[in-house]
Amino acid sequence: MTSISDLKQRAIKNVDAARDELIQLSTTIHANPELAFKEFKSAALLSDALEKHGLKVERGIGGLETAFRGEARGNRAGATIAILAEYDALPELGHACGHNIIGTAAIGAGIALQPLMNEMPGRVLVIGTPAEEGGGGKIILLKNGAFEGVDAAMMVHPAAYTLVTRGSLATRRITLEFFGKASHAASSPEDGISALEALLAAFHNINALRLHLRADARVHGIITHGGAAINIIPEYTAAKFSVRAATRAYVEEILQRVIQCAQAGAVATGAQLKYAVDDGYAEIIPNRAIARAFAENWRALGVEVHEPRPNERMGSTDMGDVSHAVPALHPYLAIVPDGTPGHSIEVRAAAISPEGHAGLLNAAKGLAMTAIDLLCDENLVQEAKREFAAASK
Ligand SMILES: [Zn+2]
Ligand SMILES: [Zn+2]
Repeated sequence: MTSISDLKQRAIKNVDAARDELIQLSTTIHANPELAFKEFKSAALLSDALEKHGLKVERGIGGLETAFRGEARGNRAGATIAILAEYDALPELGHACGHNIIGTAAIGAGIALQPLMNEMPGRVLVIGTPAEEGGGGKIILLKNGAFEGVDAAMMVHPAAYTLVTRGSLATRRITLEFFGKASHAASSPEDGISALEALLAAFHNINALRLHLRADARVHGIITHGGAAINIIPEYTAAKFSVRAATRAYVEEILQRVIQCAQAGAVATGAQLKYAVDDGYAEIIPNRAIARAFAENWRALGVEVHEPRPNERMGSTDMGDVSHAVPALHPYLAIVPDGTPGHSIEVRAAAISPEGHAGLLNAAKGLAMTAIDLLCDENLVQEAKREFAAASK
């Protein structure tokens, strides 16, 4: 039987052999940023690459046109390891979250593992998951059974700091709509009801609420409709808020108070309030057993892996929901200097820089090496599952 370390060495070589192809793929996706659920080109490019390297590819899985699944089967029954790809971009900013690297790294890992599968048990799935930046593609895929039979799932996100066990914030989004009454803003203001003043009052109330929230809470919003013209008392306004916190339970609590803040704005002005809340994302439960293996593999490649800092800053991701369904890991790999903000033009530039390309290759190698650990070491999968079961209680 081939040793685990020999398989890992060959996986590393396979990633290096595909270097130019992977960089080309990552750069092309970066140059063609596509928004949530519309990642047609990106999904096709990534699926084509998997197919070319011998994986069995199914396109449009789980009810999502831009989702896909590549499969490579081992020589006997064993664990099913899912490597997740993201490839959606941000409105106006393009690939400022570096999802071109996430998607391509997952494909790189699949390409590296495929030729080794006839020496290993189990199977590897490369799952293309649309709409991380809004829409929650992974949640739809979970609901539609795309993760059935998966024993462990992982992906790598580019970042400003390399660490394997950072969590994420639970989040829900709420849309507020205020309905007032239009009238001439100068000649008959007394006949109007301003939906804008109702909305502004809601913002002020929410800002006041913020003073009393725990440090992990984040409430932030934008006005999507502020009125039609300055000489009309606005009859319709709308805003979107994101409510985040360390746990789902606290998000629910804050959300109820945000709704009260909005209701107060409506009462004060005489406008009517309508609101709608989405399902949101759960917080990530990082699987420590998988994290240990991942960190060891990155360190073997010479990647410096850090421990999470106290008060570690976090975003939210639909990988949180995956981590509530199966043992999962969402490590971060530095491609920009520590302190660089996420969703920035700095990250967008770095996502196709030499640092970005190096990160892409190390992400693919780390994923492939950790998949080998999980496929070949049954104890590791069992440990990950025990930990998952204990955390889910
Ligand atoms: Zn992201
Ligand atoms: Zn993002």
